[in-house]
Amino acid sequence: MFLTVHAASGIFIGSQVSAPWLAFILGFVSHWLLDFIPHGDEKVIDRSKFSESRLKKMLFYVAAADTLGIIILFYFLISTETIVLTSGILWGMLGAVAPDYLWGLHKITRIRVLKPLHKIHNWFHLKLTNPRYPRLNRGRGLPFKLGSLIQLAAFIAFFLLIIYL
Ligand SMILES: [Zn+2]
Repeated sequence: MFLTVHAASGIFIGSQVSAPWLAFILGFVSHWLLDFIPHGDEKVIDRSKFSESRLKKMLFYVAAADTLGIIILFYFLISTETIVLTSGILWGMLGAVAPDYLWGLHKITRIRVLKPLHKIHNWFHLKLTNPRYPRLNRGRGLPFKLGSLIQLAAFIAFFLLIIYL
């Protein structure tokens, strides 16, 4: 899912769990659970059309735009005094977005120590949509538009939880 959705879930977790280390772990696990829901982003870029170096560049730009989304979300929530920045919120949010940054870091650098995390992340992300596991939509994955709606619904749900709880 987009980092902004994960960030919203991490902020919510951090607003409910004050111990920063616990907020981080719960945020981290929430990332995998959210990614388990089919959300269509394996269709964002047609991998067969681009070279590996071009794909890495595109991945970088998508991550940069998504990071900007997190900054805007944080700025909005703090400037409107919807949340008070606590270490629980900060670490919950960092835990919730960390798996994607570590995934990208492994994709680009191939650092071996990150490989197990990369595999776990891929398992959750692709279990229901990977053509090797043809459970959904006959293995073609979810269309991007439908996936975007699911992500939007998840974002709104966490946003409302942040505001009202
Ligand atoms: Zn992810």
